[in-house]
Amino acid sequence: MSDTPSYGFDTLQIHAGSRPDPATGARQTPIYQTTAYVFRDADHAAALFNLQEVGYIYSRLTNPTVAVLQERIATLEGGVGAVCCSSGHAAQIMALFPLMQPGCNVVASTRLYGGTVTQFSQTIKRFGWSAKFVDFDDLDALRDAIDDNTRAVFGESIANPGGYVTDIRAVADVADAAGVPLIIDNTSATPYLCRPFEHGASLVVHSTTKYLTGNGTVTGGCVVDSGRFDWSASDKFPSLSAPEPAYHGLKFHETFGPLAYTFHGIAIGLRDLGMTMNPQAAHYTLMGIETLSLRMQRHVENAKKVAAWLEADPRVDYVTYAGLPSSPYAERAERCYPKGAGGLFTFAVKGGYEACVKLVNALEIFSHVANLGDARSLIIHSASTTHRQLTPEQQEAAGAGPNVVRVSIGIEDADDLIADLDQALAKATA
Ligand SMILES: *Cc1c(COP(=O)(O)O)cnc(C)c1O
Repeated sequence: MSDTPSYGFDTLQIHAGSRPDPATGARQTPIYQTTAYVFRDADHAAALFNLQEVGYIYSRLTNPTVAVLQERIATLEGGVGAVCCSSGHAAQIMALFPLMQPGCNVVASTRLYGGTVTQFSQTIKRFGWSAKFVDFDDLDALRDAIDDNTRAVFGESIANPGGYVTDIRAVADVADAAGVPLIIDNTSATPYLCRPFEHGASLVVHSTTKYLTGNGTVTGGCVVDSGRFDWSASDKFPSLSAPEPAYHGLKFHETFGPLAYTFHGIAIGLRDLGMTMNPQAAHYTLMGIETLSLRMQRHVENAKKVAAWLEADPRVDYVTYAGLPSSPYAERAERCYPKGAGGLFTFAVKGGYEACVKLVNALEIFSHVANLGDARSLIIHSASTTHRQLTPEQQEAAGAGPNVVRVSIGIEDADDLIADLDQALAKATA
C-alpha cells in the first residue's frame, strides 16, 4: 500500500505501510521482537553495511514493525520518509542533529511545549547549539532573528498549551527566503487536522505518545521528511551534502536524493545516538493510528462544546481556544485548520493559583496528569508542573500563567465533562 496516494485518509490510516506477513499471512502487523537479522551471506552483509542495499541488520537501526509505522506516518503526512524514535523529545534531537554543528542555532517560537522550551534553552547548549525564541506572529522579528548560523526554524502547528495556531505558510516563506528548513511539531494537530508539508514546512516531528497512539500507553516520536529541501543549495548542511567519513566519503544528498535526510537519520542518527523506538511501542501506535480520524473528530467536537460552556461561565475569566469564534486566532484557525483547532486549550479560573489547585483536586473524570492527546480527558496546572522550570516571563509568553489550567479534551460524552467541570469549579471558587 505504499504507492497508493489516491486513497483517502481513513483508508491510509489503516493500510499504509502494512501488508499481510509474507511468512505466515498474518493480517495484522506482527511485532518483530528480534534484535538481529540473519544475513544471506557475507556479501549481503557487506552490502548492507555499505548502504549499497537496504535491509535489516540490527534493531537499533531498523525493525520491520517500526518500519510499518514509519511508512504509515510518512504517508499520512505526505512525506517521503520517516524515522521513529523513543520519544518526542528524542525526535526533536534527531531532527536537529543532521542540521546543526557547534555554534549553530535554531530559531523557535515562544509558544511551545514546556519541555521543548527547556530542551532548547538549556540542554542543547551542551552540544554547542543554541535557540532563539521569537513570537511567530511577528514575521519581521522572525526574519531578524535568523542569522548566518541559523540552521532551522521550529514551531508547533496547534501550539501548546493551547489557544494558538501557527500560520505555517507565512513562517515557511520566511524560512525559505533565508535558505533554512522549517520544522513543525505536529503533535497536537496530527496529520488529520494539519499536513504541514502542504503549507511549506520541510520537516515534521511528532510525539507519537499523544494523539497518534491516543490512549496514553507508550512514549514514542517520529521525524518526517517532505523530501523537498535542497541540502546542497548552500554549504550550511555538510552532514547531508559533504562526504561522510564514517561511510567512506559517501555524500548522503548526492547518493540518496530526496531520501537523504531519512537515510542519515537511520544510518547516523539511530546508529550513533541510539534513540530507537522498540517494536512493542510501534505496535501500540499502529493500533492507535487506525482510529486517528474518528478520534480527532470527536476531540474537536467535544473541545468546542466544553470551551463554549466554560467561556459563558462567570467563574471563568477567559478561555483560549482557537476554535472559539471569540479567539483572536479564529480566522486563522478557520483558514489553516479547517477540520478543527484540536482538543487542547487553556482557561483562566477566577481565584488564581489557589483556585486552580482546588479545581484539579476536585475533578472526577478529568485526570490530573502531565500528558495530552489521550482518549480520556486530562487537566494540568502548567505553572506548578510542566512549565515550572520556566521564568514567569516565559510562563506568560507560553500562555501558562499561575491562574491558567490546560485541558486535553477526551472523547467521552461532552455532557459528562461539562458536569464534572461544573461541580469542580463550584468547589474551587466557593
Ligand atoms: C509531549 C510533547 C513533546 C515531547 O514528547 P515526548 O514523547 O513526551 O518526549 C513534544 N512536543 C509536543 C507538542 C508534545 O506534546
